[in-house]
Amino acid sequence: MKIIRLPHAMSRWSDRLRREGVTIGLVPTMGALHDGHRALIKAARLQCDALVVSIFVNPTQFSPNEDLSRYPRPIAKDRALCRGEGVDVCFEPDAGAMYPEGFQTIVTVPVVAQHWEGASRPHHFAGVATVVTKLFSIVRPHVTLFGQKDFQQAALIRRLIRDLNLGIDLIVPDTIREPDGLAMSSRNIYLTPFQRRAAPTFHQALLIGRTAVETGLRDSRSIEQRMRHVIGREPTMSVDYLAICDPETLEPLTRIERRAVILGAVRIGSVRLLDNMMVAVKPRR
Ligand code: AMP
Repeated sequence: MKIIRLPHAMSRWSDRLRREGVTIGLVPTMGALHDGHRALIKAARLQCDALVVSIFVNPTQFSPNEDLSRYPRPIAKDRALCRGEGVDVCFEPDAGAMYPEGFQTIVTVPVVAQHWEGASRPHHFAGVATVVTKLFSIVRPHVTLFGQKDFQQAALIRRLIRDLNLGIDLIVPDTIREPDGLAMSSRNIYLTPFQRRAAPTFHQALLIGRTAVETGLRDSRSIEQRMRHVIGREPTMSVDYLAICDPETLEPLTRIERRAVILGAVRIGSVRLLDNMMVAVKPRR
C-alpha cells in the first residue's frame, strides 16, 4: 500500500491509472477507522480496480467550539486496517497542502444543507462540500462511497455530483452498528462507560418510530412524540433534533404516505450522536 501526502502526487498516480483504463474508487474518511469504515472500504473494493482511502481531519468542517484538536488520529492503526483490506493508496494530505495560503473558494449546497445538521452546525456542510470537491478533483475517482450513517451528508454529495456534472458513481452503504444498536462512530470513544450504556437508547427510539409507521401511524408529530418519550426516559440524553423527512429533499413531512427517513441527533454529556432510520409504509393487503 502506498502512502501519498501531496495532492499533485496523488493526481499523478490517478492520471496514470486512468490512462491505463483502471477504475478508481475513493472512500473519504477522517481516520480513527472502525468497522463502519471497514464496511465502506470492503464495499468499495468490490467496485473498483484501484482503491484510495483518504484520511484527512478537515478543519473547515469543525466549528471553533468543536473537537478538532482532540479528534482521534491513530494513523498507524488506520493504515494497518487499510492495508488489511487491500487498499492501494492511503491519501494523507495535511491542512497546509489542502488549504495553502490564499485559498478562498467555498462550495455550498445551500438547500440540502439548510436543516438538521446544517442548522445545528453552521459552516459544517460548506466545509464538507469544499473538501470533498477537492478530494474528487485530486483523486479523480470513478466511484465513491459515503455511509448512510451521515444521511444528510450523503444527500449533499449526491446533489454536488449531479450539479457539477462530476460523473462519479455514488454508493451509500447501510450503517454498521454495535451489537446493542449504537451506530459506530469515531466519536463513540468519548463516551464514559456510563454514557456508553445509555447510548443505544437513541437507536431504540428510532426503532420505536419505525414500528409506529409499520403499525399504521401516519402523523409525524405523534411518531416523534413516541420517540421523544423513549429518549426522555434516559436522563443523560437530550434531543438536538428529531425529524421525519422526505428521503430525497430532507424536508419535514407532516404525514408519512410512502417512504420517509427519521433523522436525529442527541447529546449525552458533551458527546453528540447522529443516527437515522429509513421507514416505509407497508402496502395494505
Ligand atoms: P468520517 O471518518 O466520520 O468522516 O466517516 C467517513 C465515512 O464513513 C463517511 O462516509 C461516513 O458516513 C462513513 N461511516 C461512519 N460511520 C459509519 C458507520 N457506522 N457505518 C457505515 N458508514 C459509516
